[in-house]
Amino acid sequence: MDQGQALIEASWGRPVFNFSVGPTGLTDPTRAALAGPVLYQYDPAFLQLYASVVRQLGRAFACTEVPVILHGEAVLGLEAAAASLISADDVVLNLVSGVFGKGFGFWARRYAREVIELEVPYNEVNQPDEVRQALRAHPEVKVVAAVHCETPSGTINPIAEIAPLVRDAGALLLVDAVASFGGMQVEPSRWPADLVVVGPQKCLGGPPGLSLLYVSDRAWAHMESNPAAPRASILSILDWRGAGENSETFPFTPSVAEINALDACLAQFLAEGSEAVQRRHQRVARAVRAGGRALGLSLWPRNEATCSDTVTAFAVPEGVDEGRVRARARATMGAMLSGGQGELTGKVIRIGHMGPSAQPHTPVLALAALGNSLRAEGFPADIGSAVEAALAALGE
Ligand SMILES: *Cc1c(COP(=O)(O)O)cnc(C)c1O
Repeated sequence: MDQGQALIEASWGRPVFNFSVGPTGLTDPTRAALAGPVLYQYDPAFLQLYASVVRQLGRAFACTEVPVILHGEAVLGLEAAAASLISADDVVLNLVSGVFGKGFGFWARRYAREVIELEVPYNEVNQPDEVRQALRAHPEVKVVAAVHCETPSGTINPIAEIAPLVRDAGALLLVDAVASFGGMQVEPSRWPADLVVVGPQKCLGGPPGLSLLYVSDRAWAHMESNPAAPRASILSILDWRGAGENSETFPFTPSVAEINALDACLAQFLAEGSEAVQRRHQRVARAVRAGGRALGLSLWPRNEATCSDTVTAFAVPEGVDEGRVRARARATMGAMLSGGQGELTGKVIRIGHMGPSAQPHTPVLALAALGNSLRAEGFPADIGSAVEAALAALGE
């Protein structure tokens, strides 16, 4: 048994610090809710809870439309969105600035007449001017797909600037906001977007098992008129419209325990308030970036202004094996960091500061653990300066 395995085996009841990009771990109220009663889905108490959770989700989205919950991890919501919103006549403009945007293109191609891809290097973000030009050059575009926080790159796309361009062009905007919702400003109807997919396991600090969808009236109309939009299918969004609003309306059994947990997540989010939540994420993100640079690392995103407040990606220094660095941080200090994903594997090392980990301990502990492991790999990490810089940025 290696050291890492030994620590994992011995870690029950001991602190293991989750600095990953999610699942980010449960807060105590959410853990308690997850252990609550798993009721029959048509029990009046569950119907009441479900309706209340949908209302709370609407408040969290700051929207007047009734949101939809699909009962599978956020990838279900994204694939269902592609299958439902993109009809066989539609031309899709897919904005790609990273692994998730690229991945969405594969689903889009399955359903669309044509997919036009606007791709930038994965350390940059999609530019509103380029989107404007693409929409002018292709007035036939019906759906624009974008990713808000490209988690593998640690970047945030300027959706608030892109959304009005899409609306002006008469197209529908579909946004993957899984890793930004609950940490950064995501206001679907104000952007305005038409279909936004999020999940509870990132900034809301819930378990991974649900897809939470904002759907505009325009998106509903387009899905209703799409003869190929899934019905009587696990991929159906249409089947879940209005679910739980009166009795006997669930297409199949909802994930009761996940709804119990989501209720607690949303209550916490709404009690703290979205502005306070955003400030907390901003402050911790600033400290992680300042501390990481003082440690001797470079940010992966080319421009600091495009860094996400929910995850920071650092470039892996020349000659360093990031897998060994992360394994050592986990084994020696119980610090769980994230590596790269897709084509960024081996190129970035990431600190998640989402939801439960968007707290001041994260920059201090995560950078100390990362620095200590980098040293063991021969990289001269300046841990003292990193901790000082992080504390200064936190204002502690
Ligand atoms: C986490 C995440 C998802 C969900 O995908 P998984 O591969 O299941 O983690 C989707 N989009 C983004 C941007 C995410 O960060």
